[in-house]
Amino acid sequence: MHPFLYLSLSLRESFRIDASCGLPHWDYIQLTLYLEAALSLPSTAVILRLATTNSQRMSIRDVINVFSKNSYILRKKTRPLNLANMNVQAEVKDLFHTAKALQCLGLAAPQIGSQLRMFAMKDPFTGLVEMVINPVVVKKSRETLVDEEQCLSIPKYAFLVNRSKYITVNYTDNYGNRISNRTFEGLDARVFQHEFDHLDGILASDRGSVVHVPYF
Ligand SMILES: [Zn+2]
Repeated sequence: MHPFLYLSLSLRESFRIDASCGLPHWDYIQLTLYLEAALSLPSTAVILRLATTNSQRMSIRDVINVFSKNSYILRKKTRPLNLANMNVQAEVKDLFHTAKALQCLGLAAPQIGSQLRMFAMKDPFTGLVEMVINPVVVKKSRETLVDEEQCLSIPKYAFLVNRSKYITVNYTDNYGNRISNRTFEGLDARVFQHEFDHLDGILASDRGSVVHVPYF
């Protein structure tokens, strides 16, 4: 079968899956990429098809760090977002794909220059990236733990930060589901608190002491 013929078949199949499961746009694009990667089709062909079929393109953005010209964005407070807004959807998608590309544990909107109240979090065991939109902290444990944290916006440095051991939160996921009273613990609780801080312009360096300074 001609590769392009198969490509369009796989795209149609992914559209069908999308229609039946209600997956967001970027999920079936990923599914398509997976199918095409499994068939070892040339990546240029994949890009070509995506460019012509994907009306809402996503982009992998640069991460803003404290040494960047526009580092002031990291200090700004974010504003809640409405997922129904098409412009907002593009921002959500960009953050999701940038976090996936970087394979980081967490990435907050200000780090890619967005002022929306959201961040991406990766499950360290499954590797799945979840979007946390308009998060609200319901409860934090009094019990705390000190551990080392790094931040993509403060490259090469590490900090010892004291965080609540458990945290209970409400938020909306990237499917628009409202998640209520979800409790995170351990590394997840730490990542959540670190990313949540970003939404209020707070960095790990504000919370803890430096334990590692890069060797220049
Ligand atoms: Zn960070």
